[in-house]
Amino acid sequence: MAKQELPSVAWGRMTPSTRAIVAELILHGPLARAELARRLSLSPASLTKLTRPLVAEGLLSEQGARPLAETGRPALPLEVAPGRVQVIGVKLNPDNLFAVRTDLQAHVLEEYECKLERHDPASVGEAIGVAVTFLDPLRRVERVGVSLAASIRPGDQVVREAPYMGWSQVPLAEAVAQRTGCRAVLVNDVRALTVAQHWFGAGRQSRCFAVLTVGKGVGCGLVVNNAVVTGYDGHAGLVSHSPVNPGGPLCRQGHRGCASAYLTSGSIVRTLAATDGFRGATFEDALEEAREGNRAAVRVFRDACFALGVLAANIANMIGPDRIVVSGEGVGMYDVAPEAVDEGISRHLHWNASPFDLDVEPFAFSEWARGAASVAVQSLVYGEQADS
Ligand SMILES: [Zn+2]
Repeated sequence: MAKQELPSVAWGRMTPSTRAIVAELILHGPLARAELARRLSLSPASLTKLTRPLVAEGLLSEQGARPLAETGRPALPLEVAPGRVQVIGVKLNPDNLFAVRTDLQAHVLEEYECKLERHDPASVGEAIGVAVTFLDPLRRVERVGVSLAASIRPGDQVVREAPYMGWSQVPLAEAVAQRTGCRAVLVNDVRALTVAQHWFGAGRQSRCFAVLTVGKGVGCGLVVNNAVVTGYDGHAGLVSHSPVNPGGPLCRQGHRGCASAYLTSGSIVRTLAATDGFRGATFEDALEEAREGNRAAVRVFRDACFALGVLAANIANMIGPDRIVVSGEGVGMYDVAPEAVDEGISRHLHWNASPFDLDVEPFAFSEWARGAASVAVQSLVYGEQADS
């Protein structure tokens, strides 16, 4: 394997002040040195001292500067050198694997997708190795983030439980590191998506917001006081089976009228299959029929949208967000009955609650992988403690 021309960035030797500079430039750069110093409460002399090694190793550059620019040029804004450091994000599903290579600002540079024929950890580790080699044949990336629907605590090297994969106590980080030669960070998929929204997406201006995902499951990620909520043991935001309507349909766990009974793609298809006139077999079929005006399909999606509104209101009552981002592969349901979402919110939002924006994001499967890449970026910038 050919090696990169520049040495690896010395992340491990960075001080908290240096890391803060890098983070500020990732999030808000390019910034003039004076502005950067002001934002971080550093003196100009300290800033110069702290940034000099970062410029020397190529992590930071002066925007618009030519590589061999002469001294004496006017001060140019500092930025994270485009493409200098890259990471890979991988999203594992039971059926397939999505991966992206991104820069430190989570711009997607290349995508990869393959089917997962087998779920045993060795085969999945092998598939991740193939994906990383495809996206990074020169082994330039500095970290790999891997996300999946699983119980994972910040810093975990082992996937504790991943029911969709049939996994329990799988040492995935080590398997990935062995096959790629690159350190891996494991993260719950919804939390990874939340990190991406927090740093690079609709939540970047918010200190308190939530991400609500609908699709095969129902997921919720929370950011409170500018920090992603993980819970003391990695479990937070478990709203998927919270009650919506005690007279509603049953979910697979046997709850009557819980959020999952209305919102998951499987529940929607099951409910619709029990009605007359539905000939489809998938969530996409159901959505298509609703768009074409099939009354039973419209009713099922209307109920789902109402449940989405109830869930959003309950989250808002709990954390007081200024924004709730709705995403996931089932997000297309919103357009069937947006007024039902509003009705669910208005009926269940506490009268003292502050209003919030509902931000419905168009969804691509690569967004999950981009979330994993965002976690890899945070893990580089903030070190071990940021592995959320
Ligand atoms: Zn349930």
